[in-house]
Amino acid sequence: MNIRAIQRSIDNYKDLLGDELSALLSKMYHAASELNYKLDWSGNDEAIEQAIYEGKPALSAEEPVIEVDWLKDAVSKLLKASGDRAEHINLDLLDTADLSHALTDPHATLESIVDSLRADNKELSDQEISHFSLSYSLALSLFGEKVHEALSDTLDKIHVKPGGNCPVCGNPASLAYIEESTAKDGAPKYLWCSTCHYSWRYSRIKCEICGNLKQEDLHYIFAKEKPSHKVHVCEKCGSAFPVVDQGKTSVLSAFEIEEFVMMDIMQDILSQDIDLDEIFGKGKAN
Ligand SMILES: [Zn+2]
Ligand SMILES: [Zn+2]
Repeated sequence: MNIRAIQRSIDNYKDLLGDELSALLSKMYHAASELNYKLDWSGNDEAIEQAIYEGKPALSAEEPVIEVDWLKDAVSKLLKASGDRAEHINLDLLDTADLSHALTDPHATLESIVDSLRADNKELSDQEISHFSLSYSLALSLFGEKVHEALSDTLDKIHVKPGGNCPVCGNPASLAYIEESTAKDGAPKYLWCSTCHYSWRYSRIKCEICGNLKQEDLHYIFAKEKPSHKVHVCEKCGSAFPVVDQGKTSVLSAFEIEEFVMMDIMQDILSQDIDLDEIFGKGKAN
């Protein structure tokens, strides 16, 4: 985690994020930058390599489990940073939570934890739940980062072109970014996973969701005043995917923050009066 880049991004997008969310993110990420997960795991190389060869996520072969005491401490610190009373939320419930697929099935894992928190304390407000979820996901991503680092040599060694799902944890990519153009590489596109923070190279003209390669089906749409943030639309599967064009951003992106920014920008772009039929129609003509 690069806290300076994160803070620069928060400052840069303050208008878009609003004062309240900017302040919350700033406090939580600063607290997160003080945390450090010491990963004591080195996986079964053979099984992991085999999974990658078969195009499966590395963690489908073996998934390390986050240390619950570290997680409780991290979430408690992040909750305090958010301004919530951590003691209001019974973090001891994490002791009995099933964390065995925390990285490979993050939504179901979080959902079941939230269910048990709500059952334990009916008074919990939506804001408390949302701050807890943010704290938990942030802590999990610090663990995920260490896990992908432990696997990166193996992933580099095996030349299998990954698809739109993370080759480490298997979750769908959260956003794409196009790097600044270089003479050697053009402007390569990468996908980024918000669960484990792994990035991987991906074709520019390929749907991130269905893998469609037909150029005439794929369209980048963006607002004229913000060419740095685009939506990649695929006619075949009807998906809309967020893309940050780093060659056109004013500060280098921190993807953790771009994820929040993109939600807003996507909504804006997709609610604009864009005649998608016309764009698609043009592609189909002749
Ligand atoms: Zn991942
Ligand atoms: Zn598609």
